Amino acid sequence: MKVGVIGMGAMGTGMARNLHKAGLLAAVWNRTPEKARAIADELGAVAAVDPASLARECDAIITCVSRDEDVLAVMDAMAGGLSAGKTVVDTSTVAVDTAKQSAAKLAAANVEFLDAPVSGGKEGAQSGQLVFMIGGDADTVERLRPAFDAMGKSATHMGEVGSGQATKAVNQIMVAGINQGVTEALAFGQASGLDMDKVIEVVGGGAAGNWFLQMRGPTMVKGTFEPGFKLGLHHKDLTICRHMLDTMNVALPIVEMTLKHYERLMAAGHGDEDISALYRDKRQLFRGGNKKSL
Ligand code: NAP
Repeated sequence: MKVGVIGMGAMGTGMARNLHKAGLLAAVWNRTPEKARAIADELGAVAAVDPASLARECDAIITCVSRDEDVLAVMDAMAGGLSAGKTVVDTSTVAVDTAKQSAAKLAAANVEFLDAPVSGGKEGAQSGQLVFMIGGDADTVERLRPAFDAMGKSATHMGEVGSGQATKAVNQIMVAGINQGVTEALAFGQASGLDMDKVIEVVGGGAAGNWFLQMRGPTMVKGTFEPGFKLGLHHKDLTICRHMLDTMNVALPIVEMTLKHYERLMAAGHGDEDISALYRDKRQLFRGGNKKSL
């Protein structure tokens, strides 16, 4: 199986490297060509001139781009190179409806589509430890299992097209709650004058331990917010969740509060920082001494 990857960002780069290790990577493409050329040179893969050329060369095409409109644009840009028997796997986080639209566009050319968003962060993409949640045909998932195994530690079929993205929405609401909890608690610890390296180690070894505390705690308390996962992208995910919740006539406190906090940080120019930049806000609460702040 020849696999191509479209989108050499924080996530796609790691996926391409691990596909290469498994002997599956044939080609890469990126909108900003320099990034694709650098990875292609490093791995001895082809840097395709456009998405259609990449699609022509590959049996399976993994896409990992930012937002809904970017996914749909890439689906259109691949069209000239797609033909029956090929499979497109979108690993971006987008709306259920975008997954369904992508599948419909490709079905016209007899091309299979899987929505396969991931969890595990940049580190998981680099180490081949991603968790895939997949919507689409179950047999297609099995056919592509060698590629999923190369990039991740699990790949679970959730149901029809869109169910991968619906599962990812659950994940993203949980990530918002974890970010709120960890940033708030660590800002409190720092304001209490504790040795924060020790706090993170001790608390992380108990029932409150979690991936985000372990990976981002040490950097956030030092005021470093290198992505990771861009705050602006998590804002995009929570906006998707809010739209899903609107159809249920529900407003969830964690979603609403986190969107509000992220919007404040984005307006202050922090949208391209890691989501742990929420710590900026929490730290400020202790400096401002505002008892009513939310
Ligand atoms: P990133 O580092 O910002 O990279 C985004 C990639 O998308 C870049 O390669 C960019 O190309 C490309 N892109 C954006 N718009 C495009 C368009 N219109 N046409 C073609 N390419 C386009 O983002 P990331 O962190 O890798 O995230 C990618 C996706 O995975 C997002 O949907 C994100 O929500 C999701 N995700 C991220 C994480 C994480 O921890 N980072 C975890 C799980 C899921 P350029 O280089 O030209 O800008």
